[in-house]
Amino acid sequence: MTQGEPQCPPDIAELRQRVAEFVRERVMPQEPVLDGGGPEARAVLAQLRKEAKDAGLWALPHPAELGGQGLPLRSYAHIAEVEGASDHGPAALGSASLLDALMLWRHGSPPVRETYVPALIAGELRACYAMTEPDVPGTDPVRIATRAEPADGGAWRISGPKWFTTGAADADLVTVLARTDGSAPDREGLSLLLVPTASAGFRVVRDLPVLGAAGQAEIELDQVTVDADHLIGERGKALTVAGERLQLGRTLRCLRWLGQAQRAFDLMRARARSRGPLADLQLVQRHIFESLLALRTTRPLVHEAVARLDAGLDARVEVGLAKVAAARTLEQVADAAIQVHGAAGLGPDTPLPALFRTGRAARILDGPDELHITSVARRVLRTDPA
Ligand SMILES: Cc1cc2nc3c(=O)[nH]c(=O)nc-3n(C[C@H](O)[C@H](O)[C@H](O)COP(=O)(O)OP(=O)(O)OC[C@H]3O[C@@H](n4cnc5c(N)ncnc54)[C@H](O)[C@@H]3O)c2cc1C
Repeated sequence: MTQGEPQCPPDIAELRQRVAEFVRERVMPQEPVLDGGGPEARAVLAQLRKEAKDAGLWALPHPAELGGQGLPLRSYAHIAEVEGASDHGPAALGSASLLDALMLWRHGSPPVRETYVPALIAGELRACYAMTEPDVPGTDPVRIATRAEPADGGAWRISGPKWFTTGAADADLVTVLARTDGSAPDREGLSLLLVPTASAGFRVVRDLPVLGAAGQAEIELDQVTVDADHLIGERGKALTVAGERLQLGRTLRCLRWLGQAQRAFDLMRARARSRGPLADLQLVQRHIFESLLALRTTRPLVHEAVARLDAGLDARVEVGLAKVAAARTLEQVADAAIQVHGAAGLGPDTPLPALFRTGRAARILDGPDELHITSVARRVLRTDPA
């Protein structure tokens, strides 16, 4: 177990160890190929998924009745950190689909649940989630331009642009946030619609490499028609479903970012110890101290958010604190590790550039730091001390 982490239950420790080994020995060596995207990355990912299934490590946090292994969040949290030590771990082990599967299962119509959710969890289908648009601030979704108009037989016809949709180029399904009623800035009137990417009028416009790494895309929907039963949640109530999804999504990301920060820390420590007098230099020691401090203070914050979510309590303050802290920690520790490595830290022989890239993006995706800082502060200022 990693120091500073709450006690890992004994029944989870062995599984955690096996996941850590799988990610270290099978996934990490393939990171350069997986980061590049394209057909080669798809083939490697398919092979890793097969191996994860054969090893009994597939879909650990998904509900057992849907084909997952049914680990509750409080147990899976101890595994998510080591699984997420590689950005590709969750996709290789089948847990990357958790947010989409739970959202469709909880809020989808019976046909959507039956047609898509088991296939999603089995890894036969891939889904993505499109809220952010090029021409309006993603931090203010009530202004989105994508609209869905009623069509014959209760169907919906959707038109609009989206971008930075993770995984859209390889996805079979995309959940789209669209305005079905009213106009900006109404909070009501936004709806979520599930769109098969094979639908007429759906198009991947271009890949959007993030600091050089593949995985994000700009997409366009031009009069895409979906059946009435592809509405996810209630008409006009998308922000309730999106909010639920974001709370869990941010918390899972925090656990994964902690795993990546720990990985950067371990590399920095090994480099300082192995390279001549580096470990004796006080300014190198300071990098070690500040990074350890960031890791040890962030980990309890993240597990506090996990505990509150797992107990079904309001976790908005805890998730906001954890999200800002975990993103900062990954960026800070990866940056320190690069510094201690010198030029090697920027070159192709370590994962540090990729870890730093994830840390930098972490401060923007799922809401930038500023959004969490102001919403946590406002919430705390309006409530009386407990
Ligand atoms: C790697 C990556 C993956 C992503 N994946 C997805 C995805 O799968 N699906 C999806 O829909 N989106 C995705 N996004 C988009 C991401 O969620 C948005 O970029 C994010 O919510 C911010 O929206 P924006 O880029 O439109 O920035 P804007 O809303 O335009 O904000 C720009 C800047 O303004 C400042 N700002 C904004 N709000 C406030 C505030 N309240 N107070 C003070 N300052 C503020 C901040 O500095 C912020 O960075 C992804 C982004 C990245 C980088």
